[in-house]
Amino acid sequence: MFHAEPDVVVVGAGPVGLFAALNVASRGHRVRIIDKEWRPTAHSYALALHAASLELLEEFALLGPVLAASRRVRHVGFYDGGDRFADVDLRALHRDHSFVAVLRQDVLERLLVDALAARGVKVMWNHELAQMQPVADGVDLTVDKLAREGLGYAVEHGEWVVQRTRAMKPAFVIGTDGHRSRVRQAIGIDWPEVGPVQHFAVFEFRTDAELGDEMRIMLHDGLQNVVWPMPDGYCRWSFEVPGGEASTVSRIKERSDVQLGGVGYPEIEPEALGEFLRVRAPWFRGSVEDLRWRLLVRFERRRAAGMGDGRIWLAGDSAHMTGPVGIQSMNVGLLEARDLAQAICDVLEGRGGSESLAAYEAARRAEWGFLLGIDRPVYAPPGTDARIAGLVPGIESLLPAAAGDLEALLAQIGLAV
Ligand SMILES: Cc1cc2nc3c(=O)[nH]c(=O)nc-3n(C[C@H](O)[C@H](O)[C@H](O)COP(=O)(O)OP(=O)(O)OC[C@H]3O[C@@H](n4cnc5c(N)ncnc54)[C@H](O)[C@@H]3O)c2cc1C
Repeated sequence: MFHAEPDVVVVGAGPVGLFAALNVASRGHRVRIIDKEWRPTAHSYALALHAASLELLEEFALLGPVLAASRRVRHVGFYDGGDRFADVDLRALHRDHSFVAVLRQDVLERLLVDALAARGVKVMWNHELAQMQPVADGVDLTVDKLAREGLGYAVEHGEWVVQRTRAMKPAFVIGTDGHRSRVRQAIGIDWPEVGPVQHFAVFEFRTDAELGDEMRIMLHDGLQNVVWPMPDGYCRWSFEVPGGEASTVSRIKERSDVQLGGVGYPEIEPEALGEFLRVRAPWFRGSVEDLRWRLLVRFERRRAAGMGDGRIWLAGDSAHMTGPVGIQSMNVGLLEARDLAQAICDVLEGRGGSESLAAYEAARRAEWGFLLGIDRPVYAPPGTDARIAGLVPGIESLLPAAAGDLEALLAQIGLAV
């Protein structure tokens, strides 16, 4: 039994959940954050923070360590073979820090874990949400504590089993438990597909090429490809693989399978990288060293039919999914974490009522309506460069920004909303 019931339980300690918990804790409320995994992610996944996200982190004095660990990207260059045909200048954003900070997701998560610990909040790793039931004055939760049970001689070869089941009764639950969200399922929110699925062959390696301060979007036969310069001389390449071909790529290469957070991703053979680079990035002349990632990843486009209800609310991947190029899922998720935590704290403090949460839902659904091309379509006025016009619809998810920043960046290349 816990000594005092928490005001808020956050389910899922990815970047969005960690940031939500930090916001609640900083308002002085009791928060518990649980995650079924045994530690933060050890990979880069979403690898960049938008200019708007940097301002969110600054509120918690996290900007210094973030910038120390990151590489700054100030331009988005659009390439057609070797031809750089358009430039988006992030420095034109009217922000305190008008650039995108590229850093590994695991570095960000560790900074957030430490910031929470400094406020006396420890992530409860190995704790999985089992059941959830809204009641009049809160939410009844049962949480399973998982432990590894050795099979014979070595614990590393063991299986995760439920060691203990605990009950909690917070006033509110924040579901940041990713795209397979149990919280979303428990409250019966639909999870419709709203756009095409994309598959990306993702490679991360060190190179001696000078990639500068530019994220490069490379067009090839209507497929999206992107390279990000990363800290310490690494770079991340994501090459879109057509749907039919993706199944062939995964079938041929599926000798090994990488488990990330309980999900298996087929590994791609290293030789495939050379062919992708030759055809889709003919300008690239650099070395390929320490190839630390080579996965085939599937990205769906979904928007939850609602952001929550009553005392149970969603943020981050539990509520939406999009393509990977503009790193919008995590970044917009961080903003949601802040807004949702503030709305809930307002209710806890008697400063707001259900209208604060209704406003959260309306704003988030409108934002994702735009980002996913459902509402407020982007259009190319007459005279727009044909290659830029060819990116409509769909360009909403390619640029590393959201909301007004995204509209301003689209305007730089002649597109309007
Ligand atoms: C291989 C890979 C590559 C990616 N590349 C990109 C990219 O290039 N660009 C991009 O924008 N995004 C990318 N992403 C997606 C990006 O990682 C997510 O958008 C981001 O992590 C979302 O954060 P989140 O906090 O909402 O959810 P998550 O990071 O998914 O965190 C959810 C957490 O909830 C926990 N959890 C789940 N169920 C339960 C439960 N029942 N009880 C307790 N805990 C639970 C999980 O263990 C997890 O820690 C990639 C993802 C993967 C896996």
